[in-house]
Amino acid sequence: MSASITDTHREVLRALADTVVPSIPHADDPTGFWAISGTDLRVDAALETALSAMPEAQRAGLLGLLDGLHAHGFVEATVELREQIIDGVGLLGAPAAGAMNALVSLALAFGYAGPDPQTGTNPMWAGFGYPGAPDIEPGDGGFATFVPGTPVIEADVCVIGSGAGGGLIAGVLAGTGLDVVVLEAGGNHHEADFSGLELPAFQQLFWQGGPTPTADFNVTLLAGATVGGGPTVNWSNCLRTPDHVRRQWAEEFGLPGVDGPDFDRHLDAVWTRLGVTADCSDLNGPHERMRDGADELGWKFTKLSRNAAPDAYCPDTAGYIGLGDRSGAKLDVRRTYLADAVAAGARVITGCTARRVLSENGCATGVSASYVHPVTGAVSELTVHAPRVVVSCGSLESPALLLRSGIGGPAVGQNLHLHPVVATLALHDEPQRGWWGAPMTAMVDEFADVEDGHGFLIQGVQWSNSLIAGGMSRSSNRELKETMAQLENAAWFVGIPRDRGCGRVSIDQDGNTVVHYDVTDEVDVRNEQRSIETQIRLHAASGAREIIPFAGTTMRWRHGDDLEEFIDFMKNVPLGAGGHRVFSAHQMSSCRMGVDPQTSVADVWGELHDTAGVYIGDASALPTATGVNPMISTMAMAHRTADAILRTVQGSVQDSVAEPVAQ
Ligand SMILES: Cc1cc2nc3c(=O)[nH]c(=O)nc-3n(C[C@H](O)[C@H](O)[C@H](O)COP(=O)(O)OP(=O)(O)OC[C@H]3O[C@@H](n4cnc5c(N)ncnc54)[C@H](O)[C@@H]3O)c2cc1C
Repeated sequence: MSASITDTHREVLRALADTVVPSIPHADDPTGFWAISGTDLRVDAALETALSAMPEAQRAGLLGLLDGLHAHGFVEATVELREQIIDGVGLLGAPAAGAMNALVSLALAFGYAGPDPQTGTNPMWAGFGYPGAPDIEPGDGGFATFVPGTPVIEADVCVIGSGAGGGLIAGVLAGTGLDVVVLEAGGNHHEADFSGLELPAFQQLFWQGGPTPTADFNVTLLAGATVGGGPTVNWSNCLRTPDHVRRQWAEEFGLPGVDGPDFDRHLDAVWTRLGVTADCSDLNGPHERMRDGADELGWKFTKLSRNAAPDAYCPDTAGYIGLGDRSGAKLDVRRTYLADAVAAGARVITGCTARRVLSENGCATGVSASYVHPVTGAVSELTVHAPRVVVSCGSLESPALLLRSGIGGPAVGQNLHLHPVVATLALHDEPQRGWWGAPMTAMVDEFADVEDGHGFLIQGVQWSNSLIAGGMSRSSNRELKETMAQLENAAWFVGIPRDRGCGRVSIDQDGNTVVHYDVTDEVDVRNEQRSIETQIRLHAASGAREIIPFAGTTMRWRHGDDLEEFIDFMKNVPLGAGGHRVFSAHQMSSCRMGVDPQTSVADVWGELHDTAGVYIGDASALPTATGVNPMISTMAMAHRTADAILRTVQGSVQDSVAEPVAQ
């Protein structure tokens, strides 16, 4: 029987809304920021809508939690007592804490980031100077997708997923005259659809509708799920694969040529087609503070290049590119390789989710998918017959597809790397306006390789009212509101570690992705602790007056407090559920390449060990974490795989390995 929402649940939702966004009497309240409460913002109604839309099991769990809160007198309790009840749930173990945290984070997201559907703004924003969505004409961009007229279609190659890897492979292969069909589960969204509003963008463009916890609640995952995949919503920082990582891929995993000029050629090709430039990387306030801190401490600070068109770039709107770049300045996969594919005759089918890769006698024969008609919404089955299939669903969904298909061998879903990120925020005396300028235009790379080829980068981050409100440490929701009032003065950093340990992707009984990830590898734990310390020292050295971790703690540092004590305390807070909030936008390696079919899924050219004609063409093929933002590495490897596919079309791979490297 489906769990439905009752009046009792509604009472709890109203109480919860007014607890997490309290109305606070304030003498000086010109915008109404202090007086507005959660129910004024209709947070309770938004929560009800969200609960109604959730999968049955998830909804039942959260409604059970609401029943529990009601039984503990949550509705009648004072705001202070309600906060204690919420904290008490956190002590009941990771699942209860995770569910409570999910509900509170959702309520905070609706309160501080949810736009009024009529106006597209939120009355809270004026209280902290957030301008809301930029009022700009959409740039050009976009293409028509193919609407299949029959339930079975034929192709030379079927590419599943149109993101960094899949979009590239489709563009390269279609450019040679092959008949390419691309299946993309997400929608066909382009510049004119990008609202610049956070919560609608999550719903429209992101995997699972936005930030999603792993099954163990240790990591919050972010991934693109729209035409063009991750690059449509990513932060466009471009870094080449580090040399020591390339050497490891060649020496430990046996990938020919990745440590030499052949892979340089693939990196160069991608760099050029994406128009990567150093000319669109203005430093915003948070990046300037990062630079100041690095200067003060004598640490290396490096400006970053981005895939952006200088003639369309405008720093006033670049702060929103993580919500889909309405300006059209971002040269993402949609606007480059995927557009090339369409121009060369490839058929891109959106709203089309691959269910199984089809094979016979160990050879690819095609793909079975479910398709939602873009106009009627009718759902139908679609089969693509193709002798070559490229699996490029991203590192969370590619293994699930292989597991549903019963191919790929024992390593499918193992070795998932996430670059598990920890974050900190600092308040300064002066406005920083973190929503101005592109999200990642510089980094501190002093500690990129501090142990065993592993280390971490400190970078800037896309502005997000919802993630900031939901994630920051606080002793009460009153303190949270007081901090939110000062967000214009905030600088927040993330530390991106190259993880040596890994998690795994499996599937549930319905074939859906389930992700587990623990930060327990000893090198990773040390690097996370170093990252936390480094971020805190950077903030302090750049003149911060308050440092706020993203963790389930009430601890903060304020100017005058003992910095060393704070660092020691924060280094000892656990990583994951209940402790430091850990985020990941970089999923990799869950269908990795290598020589050994027991420990890798694809061979050294990207073709499955156990199924000829099926290739892994996304970040899941990378043998290890890259240690740098992985778009360029993913695309360069996909470029190499596209070459390998072409060689099998034209002759044998072995013959072409000996070919002189093209310049
Ligand atoms: C918020 C964010 C910011 C980032 N910032 C940067 C950055 O600044 N620089 C950088 O280098 N990297 C960045 N990244 C990472 C980078 O975007 C990813 O590493 C890259 O996109 C991964 O490419 P991929 O091909 O593996 O998967 P994706 O690009 O994620 O593409 C996978 C596609 O497959 C589709 N799909 C999934 N399942 C199915 C199915 N069953 N059937 C059909 N289609 C399916 C998805 O909808 C998606 O469109 C960021 C990522 C995110 C999420």
